[in-house]
Amino acid sequence: MDIHDISLPLSNDLPSWPGDPRPRIKRIHNISEGDDSNVTHLSMTAHTGTHIDAPDHFLDSGETLDQIPLGLFIGPAQVVELPSGRDITADMIQEADIPAYTKRILFKTRNSQLWQQGVKEFQKDFMALDEKAAEYLVSRDVEVVGVDYLSVAPFRAPKATHQILLEGKVLIIEGLDLSGIESGQYTLYCLPLNIPEAEGAPARVLLGR
Ligand SMILES: [Zn+2]
Repeated sequence: MDIHDISLPLSNDLPSWPGDPRPRIKRIHNISEGDDSNVTHLSMTAHTGTHIDAPDHFLDSGETLDQIPLGLFIGPAQVVELPSGRDITADMIQEADIPAYTKRILFKTRNSQLWQQGVKEFQKDFMALDEKAAEYLVSRDVEVVGVDYLSVAPFRAPKATHQILLEGKVLIIEGLDLSGIESGQYTLYCLPLNIPEAEGAPARVLLGR
């Protein structure tokens, strides 16, 4: 099986959401400086780099990480490449000819080029799902949606898209790098860190085929 790592390497250079603290990864013990071992200290939000959003992120008293069925994290997934545009729209998804009964969809857009190019500054004009697109995915009984920038919703309107998906029991994976992936069917392996009561968590995400 070919295995592709579609998660972003965690580093101090990762763009972070405007207003949120940047990730900090720092060596605090060094063998070369006389310590017994090397130890790295991490400090970051749960929404750093490649991560998942649990319902509690945008719904008051929504489900937290420990309440998400583990079965969502592993299984068949469709990578769908979309034409460039301002937003991901319901029409665009309809025209993409996604096989019926697809439960996990990862959208590859122009955003993935930003990761390939190593753009470190946060980009506000990333492509994300508008409200109608979110409603359409819920109506199709999709269970997992992945996107290739740091939010599933457009920067100017974060709330509606998140709320519609999370109320519709759709797990959200954000911050995927799909630049090296062609469209088609894969097996998704999405393993968020086990932070039981959190509203999200960084995740290692792999595609196998
Ligand atoms: Zn998030």
